[in-house]
Amino acid sequence: MNLIEISEKFPTELTCIEYAETLRYGKVVKCAYCNSKNLSNRRKDHRHKCNDCNKSTSVTVNSNIHNTRLPLKTWFFALAVITDAKKGMSALQLQRNINVSYPTAFTMYHKLRELMAQQNKSIDELEGVVEMDETFIGSKPRKFAKPEMPQKRREDLDSELKHYKAEGFDFRPQGKNPAKINNNSKRGRGTDNIPVAGIVERNGNVVAEVMQNLTYANLKKMVQKYVDEDKSVLITDNYKGYNSMKKIIGHVVIDHKEMYSYRGLNSNSIESFWAIIERGIMGQYHSVSPHKLPNYVAEFVYKYNNRKDNEAMFHELLSQLFQPITL
Ligand SMILES: [Zn+2]
Repeated sequence: MNLIEISEKFPTELTCIEYAETLRYGKVVKCAYCNSKNLSNRRKDHRHKCNDCNKSTSVTVNSNIHNTRLPLKTWFFALAVITDAKKGMSALQLQRNINVSYPTAFTMYHKLRELMAQQNKSIDELEGVVEMDETFIGSKPRKFAKPEMPQKRREDLDSELKHYKAEGFDFRPQGKNPAKINNNSKRGRGTDNIPVAGIVERNGNVVAEVMQNLTYANLKKMVQKYVDEDKSVLITDNYKGYNSMKKIIGHVVIDHKEMYSYRGLNSNSIESFWAIIERGIMGQYHSVSPHKLPNYVAEFVYKYNNRKDNEAMFHELLSQLFQPITL
């Protein structure tokens, strides 16, 4: 939703409040403190008085934005602007768009990222052909040598392909624009930057996590957490952390010194996701403090997984804003 659509749909603060109340309570507004439906008529400040507990109640009480002093309209606008920005945006841009102070824009954006991180927890297990890789946010360009694959390796991969195809896995690229990898990708192992590991289901969802140590134990834990191992085959590069993956999941290794792609065996989908996240984080945010990085990553994961429906994203997050939190 763009700002014009938002303004038309929610022209006043009251229309925003009423919509938020429907999201939180359904048809009948209740007291946020005692759940009573016995409320007095809406007052001038748009709040209700509860006739049972005598408190003044509103849709933001005990919600994810309990302490907000901003008009709801500002939250609606912020959400529209942020969900519309596929490549992310800086708090400075948000500030200009919705006319609040920089610290306010910054705090709002982080609240919304937290909600995205929360929503990411309900991603279904990945299955089918899944690609796993890692990146280092903010690292220097990595030199790529021209790959060269020995005949023997080609034959080995052919037989692995035959094996997995017999099990029903399809490695052919789908869609008009199959992902291409960028050989000038600005990343590489062995830098001081923060590692992020990711897994993507071909044509499906992505998961990504900040991972301080890229050990087999940690990478394995991540596969077990997010992937249905019995219904999947994993493609990775030949990084040593993946060496023993065969113990838990069907696994094909693509050694980037030999090639980037072979008959559909590649990690182009996860590479495309890294390209989005690197451009987004480094391009928009310049520097990200390490403790905030997980939330930035969550934003790009959430947007990638909801890439086909901006409006659904807006409504889902809006609904989350007003959900009661347990105190
Ligand atoms: Zn009450």
